Amino acid sequence: MKENIETFKAPTGTKDILPAEAAVWLSVEEKCRDIFDLYGYKPIRTPILEHSGLFNRSLGEETEIVKKQMFLIPRQTEIFCLRPEATAAVVRAYLENNLDKTDGFMKLYYMGPMFRAERPQKGRLRQFHHIGIEAIGSSNPYVDSEIIALARGILEELKISGYQIKINSLGCPEDKQTLNRLLREKLKDKLEKLCEDCNDRFNRNVFRILDCKNDGCKQVVSELDLQYNEYLCQPCLQHFTIVKNNLDALKVDYHSSTSLVRGLDYYTKTVFEISHPGLGAQDALGAGGRYDTLITNLGGPHLGAMGFAFGLERLLLAAPQESGVFAENLSVFVITLGEQAQKKGFLLLQELRQARISCDMDYEDKSLKAQMRKAHDSKARFAAILGENELAKQVIALKDMRAGSQHEIAFTTIVNEIKERL
Ligand code: AMP
Repeated sequence: MKENIETFKAPTGTKDILPAEAAVWLSVEEKCRDIFDLYGYKPIRTPILEHSGLFNRSLGEETEIVKKQMFLIPRQTEIFCLRPEATAAVVRAYLENNLDKTDGFMKLYYMGPMFRAERPQKGRLRQFHHIGIEAIGSSNPYVDSEIIALARGILEELKISGYQIKINSLGCPEDKQTLNRLLREKLKDKLEKLCEDCNDRFNRNVFRILDCKNDGCKQVVSELDLQYNEYLCQPCLQHFTIVKNNLDALKVDYHSSTSLVRGLDYYTKTVFEISHPGLGAQDALGAGGRYDTLITNLGGPHLGAMGFAFGLERLLLAAPQESGVFAENLSVFVITLGEQAQKKGFLLLQELRQARISCDMDYEDKSLKAQMRKAHDSKARFAAILGENELAKQVIALKDMRAGSQHEIAFTTIVNEIKERL
């Protein structure tokens, strides 16, 4: 009798990305990399494991992520964590490796897993993946506009439509303090209309009341009628105007909203978020903003910076069939019947591979019908069928899996024929 063996499942909120899906991920990553190249961004890879203090200091002790969502790993006298985001880690790497001294302004991109102990639901995982960029070492508003245009470039590359780009300016640290006071002043008589969480936020982090999803809170926020000239200083107003003028010049559609805030303390001036109504409750495809005080906060010089990240899983939820990322991945599936055909088919694979044409065949001795199903499942562009009849005639029956048509092609010309048809 078989013993009861304990079986394991992937932890809640994590996912195995099986080959068919992993191929789609690669394709999305490739398209993003092409866009990053176009804009002069260079790759950076930082560790998944970081000191938890890095995020406590960067994101802010009162933020949701630091308070509730960090995967902490105590070891001996240190507390590590699985990174919940990469901006702080990239800035740490920039400073630790003296890139401020050797390179100055740098455009960096990264792709990889992030970890937050959230309640999993559609589009919300505990291990999810960011595709993001950081432009470190400039306070120029043109950088802000270029980054927002780049984000649109990625969505266009993936043929995602129907998204909305929201932008806002939180101003410099002094402006943020003014806004903080202004919000507390305007909200102090309306606390009974706000939800319990927002009453808590009123004392801890009043900005978060602006993006509360509760209908009652939304109503209160909509009646606040915040005006930029109430809290943005002249240089910050001018910065924001340049960002918006540039976006107009680049024909980027955006919606400016005083209630867009980001959950992290390090943001200053421009912040933006891209949402998609097709995604349901978790509708943010990506988000980012300027963080002009983070570098000094982490012990570096006074340098401006801006970045953003898309959630890879959410890009995939929004990507339509025609985005090109779901395309077939194998060019030819070779189907053989009988031992002689198998031998010939095996050699054909070698010839095709030498010609850099991707191909495969069945190694499970399946029937013709089952092999056809495999060819179909592998999303091959062509099936090359080889049975006794074909062997006798020295031909291969080449089936175009997209068109459904089938032609007999001589052994001697098969590789060239396939090459031409691909
Ligand atoms: P954030 O750092 O929270 O602004 O995240 C940037 C983007 O990452 C979001 O707009 C989402 O697309 C994605 N994202 C954030 N948290 C999660 C999560 N728990 N699960 C899946 N995607 C996420």
